[in-house]
Amino acid sequence: LSNSKSNNVHRTHYSSQLDKSLLGKKVRVAGWVEDSRVVGGIIFLTIRDPRGISQIVYRRQDTQQHIFDRALKVPRQSAVVAEGIVSETRSKDTKMEVKGEDLMILNEAIHPLPLDPTGRVSSSIDVRLDARALDLRSPGVAAIFTVRHHVAQSIRRTFSENGFVEVSTPRLIKAGAEGGATLFSLDYFGNPAFLAQSPQLYKEQLTLALDRVFEISTFFRAEKSATRRHLNEFVSVDMEAAFMDEDDVMRICEDIIVEAYRTVTENCGEQLLLLNVDVKVPEKPFAKMTYADAVESLRKSGLTVNLGDDLTDAMLGTLGRSRPDFFWLTEWPTVLKPFYIEVTQNDPDYTRSFDLMKGPLELASGGMRVSIKEKLQQRLSKLGLDLNSFKHHLSAFDWGMPPHSGWGLGLDRLVMTMLDVRNIKECVLYPRDQFRLVP
Ligand code: ATP
Ligand code: MG
Repeated sequence: LSNSKSNNVHRTHYSSQLDKSLLGKKVRVAGWVEDSRVVGGIIFLTIRDPRGISQIVYRRQDTQQHIFDRALKVPRQSAVVAEGIVSETRSKDTKMEVKGEDLMILNEAIHPLPLDPTGRVSSSIDVRLDARALDLRSPGVAAIFTVRHHVAQSIRRTFSENGFVEVSTPRLIKAGAEGGATLFSLDYFGNPAFLAQSPQLYKEQLTLALDRVFEISTFFRAEKSATRRHLNEFVSVDMEAAFMDEDDVMRICEDIIVEAYRTVTENCGEQLLLLNVDVKVPEKPFAKMTYADAVESLRKSGLTVNLGDDLTDAMLGTLGRSRPDFFWLTEWPTVLKPFYIEVTQNDPDYTRSFDLMKGPLELASGGMRVSIKEKLQQRLSKLGLDLNSFKHHLSAFDWGMPPHSGWGLGLDRLVMTMLDVRNIKECVLYPRDQFRLVP
C-alpha cells in the first residue's frame, strides 16, 4: 500500500477479490458509490467496480471526523477510493466488508444525473444513448459489451487457426463496390470521395497474394432505414479465401459462429445471468434451403411471390418463424446479387450465393466470386456500371487471380441474435442512424 506513489489512483483489489484470506488486511477499493445508508452512527457505503460491489462501513466512533463527514456527504455515482480493513460481514450481498478508515472523493457526481445506472429507475433508449457512458455503468448494459468482446476475440482466434491473415482495407474510397447509391460522400482535398460500404473489392484482390484474409471493422451505409437491425455505421466481419468454393466458406462461417457461441458460454456465465438469456451452442452443419424452395414454401403459406422477387421482411418473418435456428438460404437469383457473384453452371439466372439466416434475421451474405476478368466485365456492363471506374480492380484479374469465395457477417447482428436483444442499438456503443450523430 505505502509503496504506491499516488494513493488515490490505484486499487489493491477488485470487489470480487475480497475474501476470507484477506481478513484483517488493509485494502483499497476503487469505483463508484452505488448506495449510501446511514443507520445510527454507522454509514454503509456500497462501491461498485467492474467486478462487483464491496461494502465499506464507517463507524462514527472509529473514523476520523473529516472522513466520516465526507462519507456522509458523498453523492451517489461519484468516483471514489476507499481504504480500510477487511472484516466479517452480516450482509448477504458481499462476502466480506471493509472497515472504513479513509475515503478519497476523486470526482463528485453532479445530481440530478440523466439516468440511474443501478436500474432502480428505468430510462428510454434515447435517454440512455444520450448519456451512454453513464448507461454503461449498469452491469446489465456493460455485460453486452463484455460478451461482444469475447465474440470478437473468438472470431479472430478461429480465423487465425485456419490460416487467415487479418487485414485493414481503406475506408476512404473513390468509388463504391456496387455503384454509388448507398455511399456517404465527402470532400477529399477538393475532390469527391466516399466512405466504404464494404471491403469487397480489396479483399478479393488480396486473395491473389495473401491467400486467406479477414477483416473486422466499421463500414457505412447511407440508407435511411428505420428497422431494428440497420444502422448507418456497422461492424462487419469479412473474409475472402483463394482456392475455396461457396461450400468451403460456408463451413468456415459455421465454425466461426459455433466457436463464438462456445466461447461465450464458457467465459461469460456471469454476463448471461445478468442478461437473463440462455445461450445454446448451435449444431453444425446448419440447415440449407434454396431460394427457389423458399419461394415455393412462401407460396404454400399463401403469400404472393414470384421467382426473381426479393424476399420482403414479411416473407423472411414467415420463413423464420418455422425456422428459428441458423439456416442457409442459397442460390439466389442473379438479378438480386452483385456483379461479383458467380452464376451456377446449369442456369445463369441463379448464383452460387448464400445468406446466413437466424430465424427472420439476415446475418451474413456471401458466395463464390467471378474470377475471370471477361466475365466480370460482362456483368459490370450489363448493370450499366462504368468499366473505367473499376480499372484498378479489373487489372488485378490479369495477375493470376485465383478462384475465390467469401462472405460478410454483421458483428452487431450476431451479438444481437445471440443475446436475444430486440434492437441492434443495444449492441453498439454509440449507434448511428438517420436521427442520431451524437454523442
Ligand atoms: P439487409 O438486407 O439486412 O439490409 P444487406 O444484404 O444489405 O443486409 P450485405 O451487404 O449482405 O447486407 O452485408 C453483409 C452483412 O452485414 C449483412 O448480412 C448484415 O449482417 C450486415 N449489415 C449490412 N448492412 C447493415 C446495416 N445497415 N446495419 C447493420 N448490419 C448490416
Ligand atoms: Mg445481404
